[in-house]
Amino acid sequence: MRRKLPKGNETSILIVEDNLQMSKTLYDILKEDGYSIARAETVAAAKLKIAEKFYNIVLADLKLLDGSGLDVLKAVKAPHPDTTVIIITAFASLETAVIALNEGAFAYLQKPLNPVELKLTIQKALRMQLLTAQNRYLLKQLQDLSLIDPHTGLYNYRYLKRRLEKELSRSKRHASPISIIMMDIDYFKSINDVYGHQYGDFILNSFGQFLVKFTRGSDVVVRYGGEEFVFLLMDTNKEGALLFGRRLLEKINEHIFDEKGHKINLKISMGLASYPEDQQTDTDDALIDLADRALSRAKEEGGNRIYAAKDIYQKEIKQELNKGGPDSVERLKNKLSKMSQRISNSLIESIYAFSKTIEARDSSTGDHSKKLIVLVKRMAKKLGLSSQETEDLGHAAVLHDLGKIGVSDAILHKKNKLSNTEFKKIQKHPQIGAEIIRPVHSLSGVIPSILYHHERYDGKGYCSGLKGEQIPVGARIVAVADVYQALVSDRPYRKAYSKQEALKIIKKGRGSQFDPKVVDAFEKIIKDPQL
Ligand code: GH3
Ligand code: MG
Ligand code: MG
Ligand code: MG
Repeated sequence: MRRKLPKGNETSILIVEDNLQMSKTLYDILKEDGYSIARAETVAAAKLKIAEKFYNIVLADLKLLDGSGLDVLKAVKAPHPDTTVIIITAFASLETAVIALNEGAFAYLQKPLNPVELKLTIQKALRMQLLTAQNRYLLKQLQDLSLIDPHTGLYNYRYLKRRLEKELSRSKRHASPISIIMMDIDYFKSINDVYGHQYGDFILNSFGQFLVKFTRGSDVVVRYGGEEFVFLLMDTNKEGALLFGRRLLEKINEHIFDEKGHKINLKISMGLASYPEDQQTDTDDALIDLADRALSRAKEEGGNRIYAAKDIYQKEIKQELNKGGPDSVERLKNKLSKMSQRISNSLIESIYAFSKTIEARDSSTGDHSKKLIVLVKRMAKKLGLSSQETEDLGHAAVLHDLGKIGVSDAILHKKNKLSNTEFKKIQKHPQIGAEIIRPVHSLSGVIPSILYHHERYDGKGYCSGLKGEQIPVGARIVAVADVYQALVSDRPYRKAYSKQEALKIIKKGRGSQFDPKVVDAFEKIIKDPQL
């Protein structure tokens, strides 16, 4: 918080002087400069005044009835280290002056007082006070900044370490629990890949704000690094933290992050560790490390879940018991990899099934996508794409219109001209499709071909207005195959074009709608009478 700097008219001075004549003189001189002045005659009276309020400056006579100016100095410095004390002495020996300065007095003045010297000393003291306050404020700001992540405005790793250290020792003193949840966004890299790094930054920011909204009184949210965040839950044991984590995960899964026209849904993995329930968690590093291990386990189990550290031991112990021999780790790894392959395959299958329903809704012919697969794969080969790219293109051929699941039948089957809003809705289907398959790791190579299949070579397409070689080659290939396949199919409002007519239309778009190289490759492969 910003400290208020003393201003001239708010400056208060306490004069501690038992000689009333002297006291009055001091009062009169200083009053001329507009200070607010109080007076005391003894150490005891001065103490009472000091206890009541803060004085910028205390002018204390060295020799008082019930003690010395040094007593006043000590009495004031304890509660108000910022008060400046100036000692007044009648018999200035170097010795007493040095004692006063050593005890923290700002200066000493010798009687008889020189009014000009008095005023100058006071002004100097006030300037000094101002500078000290400014320095302190700047230092505090600097410290705050070094503890805050500039991008999200959340606390950073350094803060977490400091705070956790403090809270742990507090927990130990009061025997109260403390829990930490470490989180990592699943597949975050793919958000950058699909929408760009800057867009990823936006999402990280919104995600941070989302977490802040979810905090309760004493909770602390930290950006641990990259797309990793940490929740520090005071006075919360494992059960409480697990409940909190599950609720948070549910809310995150429900939430749509709607930035710059893209709607994104996030999946998160979380690891939880609690002091003192988890063993060996009495240092900040150990607690963080354990939460991190629990997080890794949550990822291994497929992500988008919370894992408590306690459950790791139990699992590890079980594994230990079941251990058959030195190769068991290898065996387990193989099993896991097969399992995740299976999960991924069945995911792809369900996505394929999904896209079939779309196709059934969208076009009357059933084998649209089968033909598309052949067309794109042949073109890919002709254009010298790698076998992985060719394989990905096969998937893209099936999945490119998956996003139409988000478009209503009424719009999809409308025979009259679409309204602007309706067209905007249709134009979202590449993005929706990309978003649906984003979490499927094995389909990550397919995303560009889906996302950009309605771009045009001349930059007049949607959703991003990419141009020429900016458009991923897979998307340029799908674009040609998709249009051709649509042309040679019957539609409710027109009959199918012949192969020759369709090819002519495609060639008309060479260099404007389509990549000339892709059109040339297409012209060659389409000569095959089987196609
Ligand atoms: P996983 O499900 O295994 O967590 O996959 P992941 O894609 O999230 O990968 P991982 O956690 O290994 O890598 C994090 C990625 O997050 C790497 C980097 O591209 C991205 N990332 C990290 N920090 C930032 C950032 O500040 N801005 C953006 N846009 N991206 C970031
Ligand atoms: Mg990460
Ligand atoms: Mg991640
Ligand atoms: Mg489409």
